[in-house]
Parts: sequence; C-alpha cells; structure tokens
Amino acid sequence: MEKSKQSWDVIVVGGGCAGLSAAVYLARAMRKVLVIDSGQSLALWEPEVQNYFGFPDGISGEELIERGKKHAKKYEAQIVEDEIADARRDGIEFLLEGKKDVYRSKRVLLATGVLHIPPDIPHVNECLGHSMFFCKDCDGFRSQEKQIAIVGRNNDAVEYALGMLFYSSCVFIATNGKKPHWDQQHSDWIAEYEIPVYESRIADVEQENGLIKSLAFEDKRCVEVDALFTTRGDIFHNKLGKALGADLDSDGQIIVDHCMKTSVPGLYAAGCVTPANCQMIIAAGGGAIAAQAINRDLFEQSLIDHALRRFRWKQIAVEQTEPVELPAK
Ligand SMILES: Cc1cc2nc3c(=O)[nH]c(=O)nc-3n(C[C@H](O)[C@H](O)[C@H](O)COP(=O)(O)OP(=O)(O)OC[C@H]3O[C@@H](n4cnc5c(N)ncnc54)[C@H](O)[C@@H]3O)c2cc1C
Repeated sequence: MEKSKQSWDVIVVGGGCAGLSAAVYLARAMRKVLVIDSGQSLALWEPEVQNYFGFPDGISGEELIERGKKHAKKYEAQIVEDEIADARRDGIEFLLEGKKDVYRSKRVLLATGVLHIPPDIPHVNECLGHSMFFCKDCDGFRSQEKQIAIVGRNNDAVEYALGMLFYSSCVFIATNGKKPHWDQQHSDWIAEYEIPVYESRIADVEQENGLIKSLAFEDKRCVEVDALFTTRGDIFHNKLGKALGADLDSDGQIIVDHCMKTSVPGLYAAGCVTPANCQMIIAAGGGAIAAQAINRDLFEQSLIDHALRRFRWKQIAVEQTEPVELPAK
C-alpha cells in the first residue's frame, strides 16, 4: 500500500462519543486532527437517549453522533470513513494501516469502543434498543413496572435482577439452557427475594415492531415479557492497542491513567474500550480528558523541539512588535 505523505498531529481512531468529543477539543486547540471511523458506534443502536445531560426531551443516538460530527467539522477536524486494520511505530510517528489508506500521526487516541454480545436467542436482535437492553443505567428507568427478563447465569445476572427491583417488582432470570453459575451468596439472595429462575433454553421471542411480548422456552412453557436485559459479556475493540503494545486488563480493556494515557508513550485511549462505565456522556468526557492531555503532551514536545518559534516568526512578520510613538494630538 502507498505510504501516506501527510502526517497529522493526532489521529483519533473511532468516531463515536469518545472520539468525536476528543476531536472537538483537539481541533479547538488548533491541532491537525483526523478522525478515522468505521461507522459502528453503539450509540446508533439507541433510538432515544434519555440520560445525556442537556437533552431533557431525549435525542436519538444517531442524531447525537451526527451532531458530534458536525461539531468537530465546524472546527476543521477531518473525518474519514475507514477501518484501521493494523498499527505500528515508525520512528517518532505512528503508522496506521487502514483498508483504504495508510495514515501517520504524532499521537494516537484509540476510541474504538466495545461490542456487547447479544444473547443467543432467535429473532431477539430486532428488539435491540427497543425492548432488549444491555444496561440498567440507560434503560432501567424506561422499564418501570414492566415484566423484566434477565438473561444470564452468573453473579452479574443475579445482581442485575436485584438492581432491577428498584424499577419493577416483576423480575425473573432466564439462564437460556445453561446451568446457573452463581455463588452461594447470590443464590441466597435469589431465595431471599424469591426471584424466579427458568433454566430451559429460549426457543423463540414473540415480538411486534421490536417490542417483546413473550419468550417461548424449549420445554414448551411460555412467559410474558416486556423488556429483556442481557449480561452475556463484551468484546473490547483492543486490537490496535495490542498491536502497539499497550497493557490490557484481564477483560481486554485498554488500561489508562487519569489522563487516558496508555502504557505506550504517545498512545491514548478513551471510552468503552477502557475500564470506564460504558455510558455516552462518560465516553464523551473521557474523550475530552484525553484530548486535553494530548494537547499538553504536544505542547511540551514543541518546547523541547523549539517548534513554537515558527509560529512566533510568522506572527512577527505581520505584527508591529516595537512600541511606536503615538501621533501628537
Ligand atoms: C442498545 C444500546 C443502547 C444504549 N443506550 C445508551 C443510552 O441510552 N445512554 C448511554 O449513555 N449509553 C447508551 N449506550 C452505550 C453507548 O452507546 C456507549 O457508551 C457509547 O457509544 C460509547 O462510546 P465510544 O466512543 O466508547 O464507542 P462507540 O460510540 O461505540 O464508538 C466507537 C467507534 O469506533 C469505530 N471503530 C472501532 N474500531 C475501529 C477501527 N479499527 N477503525 C476505525 N474505526 C473503528 C466504530 O465503528 C465506532 O464508530 C447504549 C448501548 C447500546 C448497545
């Protein structure tokens, strides 16, 4: 592949909540910033975001991302559609190999997010974001007094079911054909709160326009349901972090410090690919923190390299710096 001649101050991989927020900050700090995005933000799955500060009437995830792009472009951040397949160091720069092009930059921010694994239930994906959810902080509130199924079989699933009691008294756990895998303490809580547990495999979902009506089990039983939450797990998009040698935790999240720095100098990460609570506003905040740290890092580097001189010379050429005598009145 042709080597890109252009080099950016910062490349942000991922144009979701974290990446676009970082791009706004970096572009407003006068940095040459490129956002490379493959268009799969989880935010696009949410028809009505109810918990993003400043939108009391809600906003769709799609609209929020569109506004984020418009906002970043307003300050001259560039955004391209591509998927970065590999990354490595090339001297003092990072070299990112995309499917369409090769890109170079001084600093990289990975804002590549996560994939929540949907439950292994036929036809359930049509209900995604409408009545099938991954996050009680996002969607518990809208499930008040509904009949709620928690699909899972471990301690997390039990804690989810218990946490959902704040929203509804009608909560049960479906292990979807698997043996329960929770410990004695969680088993005791199930008994104490009388949470029903169905172990049969879920054969099908009856739904209309994305709204779940009932679950049909393989043992021929059927139960009415309005909302289904799943705790099946996450796949963190950490491939580029790994390729560049960043430390990961045992779940595969990229480890960052309070400034979103990874263990690799010049490499930052923000949003759901890090150990942040996976929420839009938290991802956006993480992106802003990373952007500020990157800007500071580049500033310090420019002092080491005496690179600010070229800005100053340009300014001196157009600016009257010597004091002049005021004309006599
Ligand atoms: C159904 C559903 C509903 C949700 N509802 C809410 C809600 O109501 N409120 C809330 O706060 N949160 C909600 N969330 C969570 C929210 O969507 C995430 O917290 C948020 O999108 C995370 O932002 P991010 O920038 O880390 O990742 P994302 O927004 O997912 O963005 C990551 C971006 O990186 C791109 N990318 C990944 N790898 C590459 C690569 N190699 N090259 C180029 N691009 C790449 C992806 O295409 C994607 O565009 C919901 C999630 C789901 C699944």
